[in-house]
Amino acid sequence: MPEPLAVRELLDLDREHVWHPYGPMPGRAEPLLVESASGVRLRVTDPAGDRAELVDGMSSWWSAIHGYNHPVLNEAARGQLDRMSHVMFGGLTHEPAVRLAARLVEITPEPLRHVFLADSGSVSVEVAVKMCLQYWRSRGRPGKRRLLTWRGGYHGDTWQPMSVCDPDGGMHHLWSGVLPHQVFADTPPGGFDDPPDPRYAAHVRELIARHADELAAVIVEPVVQGAGGMRFHSPGYLRVLREACDEHDVLLVLDEIATGFGRTGALFAAGHAGIAPDVMCLGKALTGGYLTMAATLCTTRVAEGISRGEVPVLAHGPTFMGNPLAAAVANASIDLLLGQDWALEVKRIESGLREGLADASSIARVRDVRVLGAIGVVQLDHEVDIAAATRAAVRSGVWLRPFRDLVYTMPPYVTGDEDVARICAAVLAAARQG
Ligand SMILES: *Cc1c(COP(=O)(O)O)cnc(C)c1O
Repeated sequence: MPEPLAVRELLDLDREHVWHPYGPMPGRAEPLLVESASGVRLRVTDPAGDRAELVDGMSSWWSAIHGYNHPVLNEAARGQLDRMSHVMFGGLTHEPAVRLAARLVEITPEPLRHVFLADSGSVSVEVAVKMCLQYWRSRGRPGKRRLLTWRGGYHGDTWQPMSVCDPDGGMHHLWSGVLPHQVFADTPPGGFDDPPDPRYAAHVRELIARHADELAAVIVEPVVQGAGGMRFHSPGYLRVLREACDEHDVLLVLDEIATGFGRTGALFAAGHAGIAPDVMCLGKALTGGYLTMAATLCTTRVAEGISRGEVPVLAHGPTFMGNPLAAAVANASIDLLLGQDWALEVKRIESGLREGLADASSIARVRDVRVLGAIGVVQLDHEVDIAAATRAAVRSGVWLRPFRDLVYTMPPYVTGDEDVARICAAVLAAARQG
């Protein structure tokens, strides 16, 4: 084993050489150094060398739903590691991937029957887009190659996903002329419990009808728009999209990478609307936050359409496709989730967040407070001072990562009531300081 590096030395090397998400080079912010994590706690050291245990309010970006260092998931990883951590997926197959695909088909809406295992959420969205464009190409309609989405969304950082991210937040101005030019509807208005606005429904229907000849698919995040602004909307809008897509021969892609596996109170957010998409993307919580893996599911209609085309294959095959280690942990994570009353746990956290965040609306410059499932959001009327807000949360013993005008939390489902209360207190402190 090499000698462990001193904290200062590590942070200096980090600043000099390592890109962080949406970061400059050299780095400006001082990240906390994580030494280990278990349950809902991260053990961190700050740049001054002081150690602390922080309650995790972020689930490592929606993924660590069972918390860290979970004995069942550790065992699944160890067991698979002793057999093989990876083999190629071309010409070979293995039980973890086959079981995972079958399980995903079983738990997602009925018409989804075929699974592409990718190595990250963004890639699963690329694959979804490729499926849709190729479907229409195979059907002799290559002109159907644009996408429609609503503003305020987030679908990942590679090119096709970037083209359907919110055009303002997604830095489209930087890439105008480079990104594919997509069709944007307005951001869906209202909240989760508000009835769908008929004028908005008409606006979306009209756009889909007008562009039907050039649209391959509509792609949206169902019910919760995550990294594009943490907004919730009525499930009724998903029914509007489903109907309009059917009427005008457009495919519907639901990106459930953030919402999947119970986060919003339904196992998949499409369930709130009782609809099924033609293509669905899953990721983030798929492996319980252990390893990187995502999945693109599609219906038999889409798969057969592709397979009857001039090029009758889906031409995509990442090196680490179907990674056995990730698939084994994903299987264990899904068993763990479905083996408990997960909906009750999410409800419990929802109640805790409602109670704990209720006072946020009286804080100066707070514009909105909203809770859905295990998601709590405090929106300010200005950009958050991220460093100040993060420091305030850390002083309260909690890890949060605010962005834009938002201080928010989506804790692991195993977070106890006291820790939920603590997270809420930290969100309030961060909203005051930020
Ligand atoms: C995070 C996210 C992605 C991108 O997933 P990565 O694994 O980060 O590439 C895509 N869509 C949604 C809705 C997401 O939340």
